[in-house]
Amino acid sequence: MKCDKIKELLAGYQDGELDAQQLETVQTHLAECADCREELARLNKVKEVAGKVKYNDLPLEVWESYWQGIYRRIERGLGWIFLSIGAIIMAAVGGFYLVKDFFLDPAVALIPKAGVGGLIIGGSFLLVSVLRERIFAYNRDRYREVQR
Ligand SMILES: [Zn+2]
Repeated sequence: MKCDKIKELLAGYQDGELDAQQLETVQTHLAECADCREELARLNKVKEVAGKVKYNDLPLEVWESYWQGIYRRIERGLGWIFLSIGAIIMAAVGGFYLVKDFFLDPAVALIPKAGVGGLIIGGSFLLVSVLRERIFAYNRDRYREVQR
């Protein structure tokens, strides 16, 4: 068997992918051919280095902080989603009853209606303002996590 043929099989030999006959051929050849043994050693070296880069290059702390960052982001994301859903439902239901039982009730005078309306509008503006500040701070935190 020629060295060229053997060298083609060496990668498969290294990964344990040869059938019994090929394995036999390669092993027999390797026993008597220093050139191909050298080639195998070279392949092993390449594989070793590649493996190191792939799995050991990043220190453990980097992975830990990476996952912590992901977890924190998911946690906060879920928190905001549930909070938003809850707030929207509360506002819709509350608004419905408020309009139905208060604003549309002819027994309630105009001045209390104007007062409550003012409270709601003012409160909404404040809420939006606070929310915007929170979202801005959240995005900044996220940016900082990426930077780290
Ligand atoms: Zn050879």
